[in-house]
Amino acid sequence: MSAERVPVKWVIFDLDGTLYRGKTAIPGAAASVNHLRQHVSCRFLSNNGERQAQDLEERLRGLGFRIEAGDVASSADLVLEYVGEHHPSSRVLALTSEHLAHALEARGCTLVEDESAELIVVGVDRRLSRPRLTPALRAALNGATIIGTNEDPTFPGECGMKPAAGAFVGIFRGMGFEPHRLCGKPSEWAVREALKRWEIDDPTACLFVGDNLRTDIAAAVVVGARSALVRSGVSNEAELTESEAKPTLVIDSVADLSPDCLEELAEVPLPAAPHVRARPIRQEAQCG
Ligand SMILES: [Mg+2]
Repeated sequence: MSAERVPVKWVIFDLDGTLYRGKTAIPGAAASVNHLRQHVSCRFLSNNGERQAQDLEERLRGLGFRIEAGDVASSADLVLEYVGEHHPSSRVLALTSEHLAHALEARGCTLVEDESAELIVVGVDRRLSRPRLTPALRAALNGATIIGTNEDPTFPGECGMKPAAGAFVGIFRGMGFEPHRLCGKPSEWAVREALKRWEIDDPTACLFVGDNLRTDIAAAVVVGARSALVRSGVSNEAELTESEAKPTLVIDSVADLSPDCLEELAEVPLPAAPHVRARPIRQEAQCG
């Protein structure tokens, strides 16, 4: 069966578990990405809801990745963009990192700790407690808009798994409130917003590379793009079997991605359509 050949022009990398774990680069990842950049455009989309692009760009450079300003976008960046556009100067109850709370304040929001909040931003809040949550519940009952950085349930820390933003968003769901906006993969809004800031108008020319089926691979599927799952992070073989979102390619590590591999991918059919179950996995043991 012949299929339309759609070359990969952009590679959109995840960060945690894909390019590094904690403070350590995945072996061979920097060399691989730096080499790929000579053939295709590379960008970096992270569900990190604590840090903005500049911090993440610096971290990547420190690990040996060649990174230009503007190459990276994070959930924190998308939160700030969304709030700036839709809720400027609002009273915000920030159940997030202090870093993101201060960034919201710097964008013109007023931080509050009581039920007068018009906006509740939910991410990883290391200070969360029942007394801190109570005014947020009351603000939500008063009609405050709820924005989540992302809904990752867990993330791999230096010493093991830790609760991620999805655990905190889940507290609101448990109280009966669905977030009005989620600013991380696999939210279609978040993915399209990130592509827009890089002036990418054709998602089908993108290859999404990540370690998480629920975020990175699902993000590719919602915009009709191909994807590569790396085995260096959170998703394992059992999840792969059960996952509805299937990657186009499964590789051990980003170190296995090569320009030749991308050439081969151009021949692989795109996912049938957004929101439709993707095609079966194509094992690419020869890649790299
Ligand atoms: Mg990851």
